[in-house]
Amino acid sequence: MAIRCIDELQIDGRPLFLRVDFNVPVEGGKVKDATRIEAALPTIRYALERGARLTVASHLGRPKGKVVAELSLEPVAELLSELLGQEVKMAPDCIGPEVEALAQGLKEGEVLLLENLRFHPGEEKNDPDFAQALARLGEVYINDAFGTAHRAPASTEGITHYVQEVGCGFLMKREIEYLMGALSEPQRPFVALLGGAKVSDKIGVIRHLLGKVDALLIGGGMCYTFLRAQGYNVGRSLVEEERITLAREIMKEAEAKGVDLLLPRDHVAAEEFSPDAQRKVVRNEEFPRGWVGLDIGPETVKAFAERISGAETVLWNGPMGVFEMAPFEGGTKGVAEAVASAKGTTIVGGGDTVRAVTQFGLAEKITHVSTGGGATLELLEGKTLPGIAALDR
Ligand code: AMP
Repeated sequence: MAIRCIDELQIDGRPLFLRVDFNVPVEGGKVKDATRIEAALPTIRYALERGARLTVASHLGRPKGKVVAELSLEPVAELLSELLGQEVKMAPDCIGPEVEALAQGLKEGEVLLLENLRFHPGEEKNDPDFAQALARLGEVYINDAFGTAHRAPASTEGITHYVQEVGCGFLMKREIEYLMGALSEPQRPFVALLGGAKVSDKIGVIRHLLGKVDALLIGGGMCYTFLRAQGYNVGRSLVEEERITLAREIMKEAEAKGVDLLLPRDHVAAEEFSPDAQRKVVRNEEFPRGWVGLDIGPETVKAFAERISGAETVLWNGPMGVFEMAPFEGGTKGVAEAVASAKGTTIVGGGDTVRAVTQFGLAEKITHVSTGGGATLELLEGKTLPGIAALDR
């Protein structure tokens, strides 16, 4: 791919249109979680230091093409202004003559935040007229909104056809580097660790990774469909009956490709799906009838940790158990510690998994924590994302 990053483009003194992901929770006119705003700061600061005349755009929530006062980006402008220590001008809309005049009036190093892109139906429809109206606000276009890269709205796809130059921001660059670069030519051994609730959500990821990894470790709710396919009784654990045949096929495919597919050998099983239920550690052969498997057991953690620590590249998506309930967090915590102390490149993606490593205070020790949800999964499925392809010139 030939994608240029903001630091490879001439931006000094030029009008720059920056698409970011400021889709943050807002309550009572205040931003409740600034993580996404902070994540965009390196790109914003760089642009301002270089003297760009910066227009920043984002969507917020789902106003469905209409103006919804509670979904205004005004509170974001306030917070961004505090974080940058300079005024952030708030535009009354994201297109139109008044907004164009504001963008044109920007001096070098000044910043304007556009109002919610989704107040216009043209955004999600990727309407060419709307895309052209946005394009009038910048000569150079930079996309740093990785979380929306699996979609093709006007502000990430359409607009790229009407500006002089396009590129990515620092956040997007890291995601591309790790999720595409590191995974397409991984240092070996390459070990992938998959968990989460269902096999059906991860079929695309499993299939794609089977062609790349040396070992695939499967935990979480999805392991029970595989164990059933191997003939084990798994009580009332989460099993997708209609995927048992597929699980069998995947195991055969792994064997044919020389991929080690590791399944749990023991579990933390409980009488009920509840933190207060009676629980015990059981091996595959002795799963109690009527009980549910809610976490991988200590022997499995040890086996998985060994593979993880010997790997040069580790990719992890999906918790190993119901980590939201303290009695069933041990498996997820155990592998998180192994991933955090692994010597190789470690990549963690997916909302729940990221929440887990953050909860355990280990996020800092991971080489790359991916910020995307759907976008991360689709990249791991080997798909071309429209928001990334649009930057490829
Ligand atoms: P996903 O969104 O597919 O990554 O799934 C994450 C969810 O899977 C989390 O909310 C976990 O609580 C859940 N999960 C993990 N292990 C199990 C399990 N053994 N049984 C039921 N749910 C599980």
